[in-house]
Amino acid sequence: MLSTPVGAIGSGIGGGVELTLNNIAQEMVRRGHSVTIVAPQGSIVKGIPVVEIAGEVQTPAQTQTRGEPIILPKNSVLANMWDYARQVQSDYDVIVNFAYDWLPLYLTPFFSTAIAHLISMGSLTDAMDSIIEQVASNFPQTIGVHTLSQSQTFPFADKCRCLANGMDISLYQFCSQPSDFLAWVGRIAPEKALEDAVAAAKITGIPLKIFGFKQNEQYWQDILQKYPDAPIIYRGFLPTEELQQELGQCRALLVTPRWVEAFGNVAIEALACGVPVIAYRRGGLTEIVKDGQTGFLVEPDSVDGLVNAIKRLDEIDRHACRQQAQTEYSQQAMGDRVEQWFRDILIGEEKNC
Ligand code: UDP
Repeated sequence: MLSTPVGAIGSGIGGGVELTLNNIAQEMVRRGHSVTIVAPQGSIVKGIPVVEIAGEVQTPAQTQTRGEPIILPKNSVLANMWDYARQVQSDYDVIVNFAYDWLPLYLTPFFSTAIAHLISMGSLTDAMDSIIEQVASNFPQTIGVHTLSQSQTFPFADKCRCLANGMDISLYQFCSQPSDFLAWVGRIAPEKALEDAVAAAKITGIPLKIFGFKQNEQYWQDILQKYPDAPIIYRGFLPTEELQQELGQCRALLVTPRWVEAFGNVAIEALACGVPVIAYRRGGLTEIVKDGQTGFLVEPDSVDGLVNAIKRLDEIDRHACRQQAQTEYSQQAMGDRVEQWFRDILIGEEKNC
């Protein structure tokens, strides 16, 4: 499994990909598969061997404009990781690519071992769209996505395999009696629109706990300047064990993406703790939140919508939230979907031989 080249696993720079990779790897090991993770230097994964690769990290694709060319830094960690994969490929049945990058897609026909590409974001640049489509056409089944909403951002939606996500629910404690806090969890970057959650906290007067890696410091400073007296508490980037403990004690999670969120790991983590999710009706969140049952879907970019939903939180049964996470997003359910995906890719390979 080749991780994202934007940062080390455990740093938070890779966003949801870090947890997704960890969960898939752990579940495959539990099922008896041998797994090796290849990731940038400094990566830490519990219980699974990590081959750490040195080199310059990649610029996250979400900071790029649509027409931007493909850029690789000197001594690229992405290139180094895939060079390593090329050398050891015959030891493995499948290589799983977690990078939202052009290079691994381009390299696909040059590898003799099958590559499964788990695409973590929607359409962002023309160059990426075009190379993903090329692989989707020439290597059917190998393009995995998280939601239908995500696949629909691409002109080749019908060629994508939808895998959702999942996690080990036993790591998330159910909390039936929350304190009077709201939560916001994610990378602090413009596409996540934290400012809308801060505005909602200011209007309702309910303090907002913020968890996440500050990917864009200037953006964070701008929010502080715009809302100097909003009731917010920045808790930093916490490991899952601590995050779930604090998140569970919140009345609701606010998810306010400005972009088409491919999935939204934070939403299923909140549900697992029994925390209702109030989200913009946009992207993957529309496929996760059951409006009126496990949270509320509100008009995108509407702070009033968030505020009105916060006022209705008593209508949500926290047990229903936990229940949804258990049935739809367990590690077992995710493992079934992903393992079958790998098997189908291998069957496709045999047919082509
Ligand atoms: N996260 C974390 N600790 C924190 C805040 C966030 O581990 O304090 C993780 C969270 O568990 C989730 C990821 O950051 O897996 C954010 O992923 P999401 O899919 O919501 O968004 P992305 O960053 O991929 O756009």
